[in-house]
Amino acid sequence: MVPDALSIAARRRLIEAMPKAELHLHLDGSVRVDTALELARTRDVDAPRDWAEMYDALVAPERCADQAELLRAFDLPIALMQDAEALERIAFELVRAKAADNVRYVEIRWGPLLHIAGGLSLEDGIASVSAGARAAARGGQEVRLICTALRSHDPADNAALAEVAAGFRDRGLTGFDLAGPEEAYPDPLLHRQAFGIARDAGLHITVHAGEWGGAAQVRRALEVEPERIAHGPCAIDDDALCGELIDRGIPLDLCPTSNVQAGVVPSLAHHPLARLHRTGVQVTLSTDDTTVSDISLSEEYAHAVDSIGLTLPELWSIDRGALEAAFADESAVARLRQEFDDWAAGVPELGTSPTSVRYAPGGESGKRGASA
Ligand SMILES: [Zn+2]
Repeated sequence: MVPDALSIAARRRLIEAMPKAELHLHLDGSVRVDTALELARTRDVDAPRDWAEMYDALVAPERCADQAELLRAFDLPIALMQDAEALERIAFELVRAKAADNVRYVEIRWGPLLHIAGGLSLEDGIASVSAGARAAARGGQEVRLICTALRSHDPADNAALAEVAAGFRDRGLTGFDLAGPEEAYPDPLLHRQAFGIARDAGLHITVHAGEWGGAAQVRRALEVEPERIAHGPCAIDDDALCGELIDRGIPLDLCPTSNVQAGVVPSLAHHPLARLHRTGVQVTLSTDDTTVSDISLSEEYAHAVDSIGLTLPELWSIDRGALEAAFADESAVARLRQEFDDWAAGVPELGTSPTSVRYAPGGESGKRGASA
Protein backbone atom coordinates (compact mmCIF):
# COMPACT_ATOMS: atom_id res chain seq x y z
CA MET A 1 0.00 0.00 0.00
CA VAL A 2 1.53 3.31 -1.02
CA PRO A 3 -1.36 5.81 -0.75
CA ASP A 4 0.97 8.69 0.05
CA ALA A 5 2.64 8.28 -3.33
CA LEU A 6 -0.55 9.48 -5.01
CA SER A 7 -0.27 12.96 -6.42
CA ILE A 8 -2.43 15.59 -4.75
CA ALA A 9 -4.44 15.93 -7.96
CA ALA A 10 -5.06 12.19 -8.21
CA ARG A 11 -6.07 12.06 -4.55
CA ARG A 12 -8.56 14.90 -5.01
CA ARG A 13 -10.15 13.16 -8.00
CA LEU A 14 -10.30 9.89 -6.08
CA ILE A 15 -12.06 11.64 -3.19
CA GLU A 16 -14.54 13.27 -5.58
CA ALA A 17 -15.35 9.89 -7.11
CA MET A 18 -15.68 8.22 -3.69
CA PRO A 19 -19.28 7.52 -2.66
CA LYS A 20 -19.71 9.59 0.47
CA ALA A 21 -22.03 9.82 3.46
CA GLU A 22 -22.65 13.13 5.25
CA LEU A 23 -24.44 13.13 8.59
CA HIS A 24 -24.01 16.72 9.83
CA LEU A 25 -25.35 19.34 7.42
CA HIS A 26 -27.54 22.37 8.10
CA LEU A 27 -30.06 23.52 5.51
CA ASP A 28 -29.95 27.21 6.49
CA GLY A 29 -26.16 27.24 6.28
CA SER A 30 -26.22 25.81 2.77
CA VAL A 31 -28.18 28.31 0.65
CA ARG A 32 -26.70 28.99 -2.79
CA VAL A 33 -25.58 32.57 -3.39
CA ASP A 34 -27.67 32.95 -6.58
CA THR A 35 -30.73 31.55 -4.83
CA ALA A 36 -30.25 33.96 -1.94
CA LEU A 37 -30.02 36.87 -4.39
CA GLU A 38 -33.28 35.86 -6.04
CA LEU A 39 -35.09 35.31 -2.75
CA ALA A 40 -33.88 38.65 -1.40
CA ARG A 41 -35.20 40.40 -4.50
CA THR A 42 -38.52 38.58 -4.79
CA ARG A 43 -39.26 38.66 -1.04
CA ASP A 44 -38.00 42.21 -0.67
CA VAL A 45 -35.69 41.24 2.17
CA ASP A 46 -33.12 43.80 3.29
CA ALA A 47 -30.02 42.05 1.93
CA PRO A 48 -27.17 42.54 -0.55
CA ARG A 49 -28.28 42.76 -4.19
CA ASP A 50 -25.04 41.75 -5.90
CA TRP A 51 -23.14 38.48 -5.91
CA ALA A 52 -19.96 39.49 -4.14
CA GLU A 53 -21.72 41.22 -1.29
CA MET A 54 -24.17 38.33 -0.91
CA TYR A 55 -21.24 35.89 -0.86
CA ASP A 56 -19.59 37.93 1.88
CA ALA A 57 -22.86 38.04 3.84
CA LEU A 58 -23.51 34.29 3.63
CA VAL A 59 -19.99 32.93 4.10
CA ALA A 60 -18.64 33.29 7.64
CA PRO A 61 -15.10 34.54 8.26
CA GLU A 62 -12.37 31.90 8.30
CA ARG A 63 -11.93 32.69 11.99
CA CYS A 64 -14.67 34.03 14.25
CA ALA A 65 -14.09 34.98 17.87
CA ASP A 66 -16.39 32.18 19.01
CA GLN A 67 -19.49 30.15 18.19
CA ALA A 68 -21.77 33.11 18.95
CA GLU A 69 -20.11 35.16 16.18
CA LEU A 70 -20.30 32.25 13.74
CA LEU A 71 -24.03 31.87 14.43
CA ARG A 72 -24.64 35.42 13.19
CA ALA A 73 -23.95 34.15 9.65
CA PHE A 74 -27.30 32.34 9.85
CA ASP A 75 -29.44 35.42 10.41
CA LEU A 76 -29.66 36.37 6.73
CA PRO A 77 -30.40 32.92 5.26
CA ILE A 78 -33.06 32.37 7.91
CA ALA A 79 -34.66 35.71 6.96
CA LEU A 80 -34.80 34.48 3.36
CA MET A 81 -36.36 31.13 4.30
CA GLN A 82 -39.78 32.11 5.62
CA ASP A 83 -42.11 30.57 3.05
CA ALA A 84 -42.83 27.09 1.77
CA GLU A 85 -41.52 27.68 -1.74
CA ALA A 86 -38.15 28.96 -0.50
CA LEU A 87 -37.71 26.03 1.91
CA GLU A 88 -38.64 23.46 -0.72
CA ARG A 89 -36.32 24.99 -3.31
CA ILE A 90 -33.33 25.24 -0.96
CA ALA A 91 -33.77 21.62 0.17
CA PHE A 92 -34.05 20.51 -3.46
CA GLU A 93 -30.93 22.40 -4.51
CA LEU A 94 -28.90 21.14 -1.57
CA VAL A 95 -29.70 17.50 -2.27
CA ARG A 96 -28.83 17.99 -5.96
CA ALA A 97 -25.54 19.69 -5.04
CA LYS A 98 -24.68 16.78 -2.78
CA ALA A 99 -25.53 14.29 -5.52
CA ALA A 100 -23.13 16.10 -7.85
CA ASP A 101 -20.39 15.60 -5.22
CA ASN A 102 -21.16 11.87 -4.99
CA VAL A 103 -22.69 12.22 -1.54
CA ARG A 104 -24.84 9.11 -1.74
CA TYR A 105 -26.30 9.37 1.74
CA VAL A 106 -27.06 12.72 3.37
CA GLU A 107 -28.85 13.80 6.51
CA ILE A 108 -30.07 17.40 6.39
CA ARG A 109 -31.07 19.22 9.55
CA TRP A 110 -32.77 22.52 10.26
CA GLY A 111 -34.72 24.31 12.97
CA PRO A 112 -38.34 24.50 11.86
CA LEU A 113 -39.17 27.02 14.62
CA LEU A 114 -36.84 29.51 12.90
CA HIS A 115 -39.00 29.56 9.78
CA ILE A 116 -42.46 30.52 11.06
CA ALA A 117 -41.97 34.28 11.50
CA GLY A 118 -43.81 34.94 8.23
CA GLY A 119 -46.87 32.95 9.24
CA LEU A 120 -45.86 29.54 7.89
CA SER A 121 -47.09 26.68 10.10
CA LEU A 122 -44.61 24.18 11.55
CA GLU A 123 -46.34 21.40 9.63
CA ASP A 124 -46.17 23.21 6.29
CA GLY A 125 -42.55 24.18 6.86
CA ILE A 126 -41.45 20.63 7.58
CA ALA A 127 -43.55 19.30 4.70
CA SER A 128 -41.86 21.76 2.32
CA VAL A 129 -38.34 20.69 3.24
CA SER A 130 -39.36 17.04 3.00
CA ALA A 131 -40.96 17.56 -0.40
CA GLY A 132 -37.92 19.38 -1.80
CA ALA A 133 -35.46 16.81 -0.50
CA ARG A 134 -37.46 13.83 -1.71
CA ALA A 135 -38.02 15.32 -5.16
CA ALA A 136 -34.29 15.90 -5.59
CA ALA A 137 -33.02 12.48 -4.50
CA ARG A 138 -32.30 10.29 -7.47
CA GLY A 139 -30.37 7.29 -8.66
CA GLY A 140 -30.39 5.54 -5.34
CA GLN A 141 -29.26 8.57 -3.34
CA GLU A 142 -30.77 8.43 0.14
CA VAL A 143 -31.79 11.52 2.13
CA ARG A 144 -32.97 11.71 5.72
CA LEU A 145 -34.01 14.77 7.71
CA ILE A 146 -33.23 15.81 11.27
CA CYS A 147 -35.41 18.27 13.15
CA THR A 148 -33.24 20.66 15.15
CA ALA A 149 -34.52 22.27 18.33
CA LEU A 150 -32.75 25.43 19.48
CA ARG A 151 -31.12 25.76 22.90
CA SER A 152 -32.38 29.34 23.02
CA HIS A 153 -36.02 28.38 22.50
CA ASP A 154 -38.61 27.79 25.19
CA PRO A 155 -38.53 24.12 26.29
CA ALA A 156 -42.33 23.93 25.86
CA ASP A 157 -42.03 25.13 22.25
CA ASN A 158 -39.36 22.51 21.58
CA ALA A 159 -41.61 19.84 23.09
CA ALA A 160 -44.40 20.94 20.73
CA LEU A 161 -41.89 20.87 17.86
CA ALA A 162 -40.97 17.29 18.71
CA GLU A 163 -44.65 16.31 18.57
CA VAL A 164 -45.03 17.79 15.10
CA ALA A 165 -41.73 16.37 13.83
CA ALA A 166 -42.75 12.89 14.95
CA GLY A 167 -45.60 13.04 12.45
CA PHE A 168 -43.11 13.17 9.57
CA ARG A 169 -41.33 9.86 10.17
CA ASP A 170 -42.98 8.45 7.06
CA ARG A 171 -41.61 11.36 5.02
CA GLY A 172 -37.94 10.88 5.77
CA LEU A 173 -37.62 12.77 9.07
CA THR A 174 -35.77 10.33 11.30
CA GLY A 175 -33.80 12.39 13.82
CA PHE A 176 -34.11 15.03 16.53
CA ASP A 177 -31.28 17.39 17.44
CA LEU A 178 -30.45 20.30 19.73
CA ALA A 179 -28.25 23.17 18.52
CA GLY A 180 -27.70 26.88 19.03
CA PRO A 181 -25.79 29.18 21.35
CA GLU A 182 -24.03 26.90 23.79
CA GLU A 183 -22.39 29.42 26.11
CA ALA A 184 -25.67 31.26 26.78
CA TYR A 185 -27.68 28.02 27.08
CA PRO A 186 -25.27 25.31 28.22
CA ASP A 187 -27.73 22.80 29.70
CA PRO A 188 -29.32 20.40 27.18
CA LEU A 189 -31.40 18.77 29.91
CA LEU A 190 -33.68 21.83 29.93
CA HIS A 191 -35.15 20.19 26.83
CA ARG A 192 -35.50 16.68 28.23
CA GLN A 193 -39.24 16.70 27.56
CA ALA A 194 -38.68 17.36 23.85
CA PHE A 195 -36.06 14.62 23.67
CA GLY A 196 -38.43 12.25 25.46
CA ILE A 197 -41.26 12.91 23.03
CA ALA A 198 -38.94 12.49 20.04
CA ARG A 199 -37.42 9.28 21.40
CA ASP A 200 -40.79 7.77 22.28
CA ALA A 201 -41.97 8.51 18.73
CA GLY A 202 -39.05 6.55 17.30
CA LEU A 203 -36.84 9.46 16.24
CA HIS A 204 -33.09 9.07 16.65
CA ILE A 205 -31.44 11.53 19.04
CA THR A 206 -28.37 13.68 18.49
CA VAL A 207 -27.09 16.79 20.27
CA HIS A 208 -24.69 19.57 19.32
CA ALA A 209 -21.98 19.82 21.95
CA GLY A 210 -18.54 21.21 22.54
CA GLU A 211 -18.57 24.26 20.29
CA TRP A 212 -18.07 26.04 23.59
CA GLY A 213 -17.08 24.74 27.00
CA GLY A 214 -14.76 21.91 26.01
CA ALA A 215 -15.02 18.27 26.98
CA ALA A 216 -17.31 19.09 29.92
CA GLN A 217 -20.04 20.09 27.48
CA VAL A 218 -19.68 16.81 25.58
CA ARG A 219 -20.00 14.93 28.86
CA ARG A 220 -23.08 16.97 29.65
CA ALA A 221 -24.63 16.08 26.28
CA LEU A 222 -24.34 12.39 27.16
CA GLU A 223 -26.95 12.97 29.88
CA VAL A 224 -29.67 13.14 27.21
CA GLU A 225 -28.52 9.72 25.97
CA PRO A 226 -27.89 10.68 22.34
CA GLU A 227 -27.06 8.11 19.68
CA ARG A 228 -24.59 10.55 18.15
CA ILE A 229 -23.00 13.90 19.05
CA ALA A 230 -22.68 16.76 16.60
CA HIS A 231 -19.10 18.13 16.94
CA GLY A 232 -17.48 17.35 20.30
CA PRO A 233 -13.85 17.37 19.04
CA CYS A 234 -12.63 18.49 22.48
CA ALA A 235 -13.48 15.02 23.80
CA ILE A 236 -9.84 14.29 22.91
CA ASP A 237 -8.82 16.23 26.05
CA ASP A 238 -10.59 13.74 28.35
CA ASP A 239 -9.42 10.11 28.20
CA ALA A 240 -12.28 8.86 30.37
CA LEU A 241 -14.80 10.59 28.13
CA CYS A 242 -13.23 9.01 25.03
CA GLY A 243 -13.52 5.65 26.77
CA GLU A 244 -17.18 6.29 27.50
CA LEU A 245 -17.88 7.28 23.89
CA ILE A 246 -16.19 4.08 22.73
CA ASP A 247 -18.00 1.89 25.28
CA ARG A 248 -21.38 3.40 24.48
CA GLY A 249 -20.74 3.41 20.73
CA ILE A 250 -21.52 7.12 20.35
CA PRO A 251 -19.94 8.69 17.25
CA LEU A 252 -18.83 12.31 16.94
CA ASP A 253 -20.06 13.95 13.72
CA LEU A 254 -17.06 16.22 13.14
CA CYS A 255 -16.78 19.29 10.89
CA PRO A 256 -13.17 20.51 11.03
CA THR A 257 -13.51 23.62 8.85
CA SER A 258 -16.52 24.81 10.83
CA ASN A 259 -14.66 24.14 14.07
CA VAL A 260 -11.80 26.39 12.93
CA GLN A 261 -14.32 29.11 12.00
CA ALA A 262 -15.96 28.87 15.44
CA GLY A 263 -12.57 29.10 17.16
CA VAL A 264 -12.93 25.62 18.68
CA VAL A 265 -9.51 24.61 17.29
CA PRO A 266 -6.75 27.00 16.18
CA SER A 267 -6.26 25.44 12.73
CA LEU A 268 -7.05 22.36 10.66
CA ALA A 269 -3.61 20.98 11.49
CA HIS A 270 -4.58 21.05 15.18
CA HIS A 271 -7.93 19.32 14.65
CA PRO A 272 -8.17 16.06 16.65
CA LEU A 273 -10.11 14.15 13.96
CA ALA A 274 -7.23 11.76 13.23
CA ARG A 275 -6.29 11.35 16.89
CA LEU A 276 -9.87 10.56 17.90
CA HIS A 277 -10.16 8.01 15.10
CA ARG A 278 -6.89 6.34 16.11
CA THR A 279 -7.99 6.31 19.76
CA GLY A 280 -10.98 4.25 18.71
CA VAL A 281 -13.70 6.88 19.04
CA GLN A 282 -16.03 6.60 16.06
CA VAL A 283 -15.99 9.80 14.05
CA THR A 284 -17.78 10.88 10.90
CA LEU A 285 -16.78 13.76 8.65
CA SER A 286 -19.14 16.49 7.40
CA THR A 287 -19.15 20.11 6.28
CA ASP A 288 -21.72 21.43 8.81
CA ASP A 289 -22.65 24.14 6.29
CA THR A 290 -21.93 24.13 2.58
CA THR A 291 -22.25 27.92 2.24
CA VAL A 292 -21.37 29.33 5.67
CA SER A 293 -18.14 27.30 5.51
CA ASP A 294 -17.93 27.59 1.68
CA ILE A 295 -16.87 24.00 1.28
CA SER A 296 -17.97 20.80 -0.42
CA LEU A 297 -17.71 17.44 1.30
CA SER A 298 -14.98 16.38 -1.14
CA GLU A 299 -12.99 19.47 -0.15
CA GLU A 300 -13.51 18.72 3.56
CA TYR A 301 -12.32 15.14 2.97
CA ALA A 302 -9.27 16.40 1.06
CA HIS A 303 -8.40 18.73 3.95
CA ALA A 304 -8.66 15.79 6.31
CA VAL A 305 -5.88 14.09 4.36
CA ASP A 306 -3.79 17.11 3.34
CA SER A 307 -4.00 19.17 6.55
CA ILE A 308 -5.08 16.81 9.34
CA GLY A 309 -3.04 13.80 8.27
CA LEU A 310 -5.54 11.02 7.71
CA THR A 311 -4.39 8.28 5.34
CA LEU A 312 -6.71 7.36 2.49
CA PRO A 313 -7.60 4.01 4.11
CA GLU A 314 -8.44 5.89 7.32
CA LEU A 315 -10.58 8.35 5.38
CA TRP A 316 -12.39 5.51 3.67
CA SER A 317 -12.93 3.76 6.99
CA ILE A 318 -14.50 6.93 8.41
CA ASP A 319 -16.68 7.45 5.34
CA ARG A 320 -17.85 3.84 5.23
CA GLY A 321 -18.39 3.86 9.00
CA ALA A 322 -20.85 6.75 8.71
CA LEU A 323 -23.32 4.34 7.13
CA GLU A 324 -23.33 2.34 10.36
CA ALA A 325 -24.23 5.50 12.30
CA ALA A 326 -26.92 6.67 9.87
CA PHE A 327 -30.40 7.50 11.09
CA ALA A 328 -31.82 5.28 8.34
CA ASP A 329 -33.59 1.95 8.08
CA GLU A 330 -31.52 -1.18 7.66
CA SER A 331 -32.71 -1.88 4.11
CA ALA A 332 -31.43 1.50 2.89
CA VAL A 333 -28.15 1.11 4.76
CA ALA A 334 -27.65 -2.40 3.41
CA ARG A 335 -28.03 -1.20 -0.16
CA LEU A 336 -25.59 1.67 0.43
CA ARG A 337 -23.10 -0.66 2.13
CA GLN A 338 -23.11 -2.83 -0.97
CA GLU A 339 -22.68 0.17 -3.27
CA PHE A 340 -19.80 1.60 -1.20
CA ASP A 341 -18.04 -1.75 -0.86
CA ASP A 342 -18.38 -2.57 -4.55
CA TRP A 343 -16.78 0.75 -5.44
CA ALA A 344 -13.95 0.42 -2.90
CA ALA A 345 -13.11 -3.10 -4.07
CA GLY A 346 -11.83 -1.57 -7.30
CA VAL A 347 -9.62 1.04 -5.63
CA PRO A 348 -6.47 -0.53 -4.14
CA GLU A 349 -5.36 2.75 -2.51
CA LEU A 350 -8.18 2.38 0.03
CA GLY A 351 -6.67 -0.75 1.46
CA THR A 352 -9.81 -2.81 1.02
CA SER A 353 -8.89 -4.63 -2.18
CA PRO A 354 -7.28 -8.07 -2.24
CA THR A 355 -5.00 -6.85 -5.03
CA SER A 356 -1.95 -4.77 -4.26
CA VAL A 357 -0.85 -1.52 -5.82
CA ARG A 358 1.71 -2.33 -8.50
CA TYR A 359 3.16 1.09 -9.02
CA ALA A 360 2.60 4.64 -7.81
CA PRO A 361 1.92 7.21 -10.50
CA GLY A 362 3.20 10.75 -10.24
CA GLY A 363 4.58 12.24 -7.07
CA GLU A 364 3.61 15.02 -4.71
CA SER A 365 3.91 17.58 -7.53
CA GLY A 366 0.41 16.91 -8.73
CA LYS A 367 1.67 17.15 -12.32
CA ARG A 368 0.77 14.59 -14.93
CA GLY A 369 3.20 13.32 -17.56
CA ALA A 370 3.48 15.19 -20.85
CA SER A 371 1.97 12.28 -22.72
CA ALA A 372 -1.08 12.12 -20.45
ZN1 LIG B 1 -24.01 21.66 13.26
